[in-house]
Amino acid sequence: MKAPISSYLDTILDEVRYQDAGSNADYIPELANKDPNSLGAAMCTTSGHIYSAGDAEVEFSIQSISKPFIYAMAVQEHGIDVVSEIVGMEPSGEAFNELSLDREGHRPVNPMINAGAIAVTQLIGGTGATVEDRIEMIRAFLSEMACRQLRVDYDLCDSELQYADRNLSLAHMLRNYDIIQDDAHDAVVSYTAQCSVMVTTRDLAFMSAVLANGGVHPLNGKRVLEPDVCRLTLAVMSSAGMYDQAGRWMAHVGIPAKSGVSGGLLGTLPGQLGFASYSPRLNEYGNSVRGVRIFKLLSKDMGLHLMAADDRAGVDAVRSIVTYQEDTVVTLQGMINFNSAESILYELSQHEISGDHVIFDMTRVSGIRRMGRFLLKEGMHLLEEKGFRISIVDPDDHVPDYRTVDGTEIHVNEQESAPFATEREDDRYHDDDCPDPDEGPQPPAWEG
Ligand code: GLN
Repeated sequence: MKAPISSYLDTILDEVRYQDAGSNADYIPELANKDPNSLGAAMCTTSGHIYSAGDAEVEFSIQSISKPFIYAMAVQEHGIDVVSEIVGMEPSGEAFNELSLDREGHRPVNPMINAGAIAVTQLIGGTGATVEDRIEMIRAFLSEMACRQLRVDYDLCDSELQYADRNLSLAHMLRNYDIIQDDAHDAVVSYTAQCSVMVTTRDLAFMSAVLANGGVHPLNGKRVLEPDVCRLTLAVMSSAGMYDQAGRWMAHVGIPAKSGVSGGLLGTLPGQLGFASYSPRLNEYGNSVRGVRIFKLLSKDMGLHLMAADDRAGVDAVRSIVTYQEDTVVTLQGMINFNSAESILYELSQHEISGDHVIFDMTRVSGIRRMGRFLLKEGMHLLEEKGFRISIVDPDDHVPDYRTVDGTEIHVNEQESAPFATEREDDRYHDDDCPDPDEGPQPPAWEG
């Protein structure tokens, strides 16, 4: 039986297959001669599960889809302050090859347009690096993201270089304003080789999933990028990745994305998945016609719009609050972030707690964020100040210490709470096993 998600991807491809609007980029034969009917899609979740459909294994040049990755690479190597000296992060709303620099620093406005990308590429490896060094570092980095050895198509690269007058003029302009130090021709060669790295739609889905997963490769668990670098890259992608279509893209699709002139389109849902499509015919903005359609369908069908609040409500952080004689058990669940910690504190403030002992059962908590932990400890501290004894069942060590922000140590009892622990394995994912909230769990045996 075909996995439902792969079948869904097949359905999406069938829905857009008939569309034949737009045309291949034709400024070089290698792009003009690509089969315009090729159509592929692939998705990789942050758990490393991959689903693909259609021509997901056909190779094409990565082109501008390399830009966010090389930006991330440069920020990781030099830090955002150095990178910000040569490129901004404002949307330009202009075409990808626009000659636009900001007024004050004469920096390209963002790294997703060619001027910005050329400036960023020459940071790779530092000023001492040769063109060959840079190209190899870029190829190796993109290979690490794709989890296979990628190659540069030098024939395609040579072909591109014969039509690179506009990019050369951008590089000369950047040199004129001291944004790049490389010889203008060298800068364009490095950038063009970067665009000539060959990938498949599956590769792009993996690469995108690394960004979605905060820089840890979902396939091998290796940290490739720092989480704040991924966040920054995705933020820039969301405002500038689709060139002069960027505003409408965020409104209608709402997935940070990057397109390339060969027809690839990559989108990233932070914390969820990486998605990519391939179809070479482009619209007037240089974005794949069927790719844009695929992303619209995906966003709508799967509720993937970043700004949609409807699917984000998640589970209630407080599963139950049950009192037995002197003991009140507060069972927490899911991810404790700011929002859920706030709801825990609110629920506690609304609850008339009788007895003198509050037990926090965190067996069902799947993770905790810094702010969530901070607020939870403050809540425990408040209860302690009101005269309650605090116990915690925390098998995954979500709260490793009990110090509050002002240095006070909460006197948390770990032993006394053990009999209240939720049964883990079997109990965890079976809702039918959940205690009826009206009945509440049975008093622990040791109470007699
Ligand atoms: N190699 C192309 C260029 O720099 C890439 C542009 C793109 O994919 N939008 O002109």
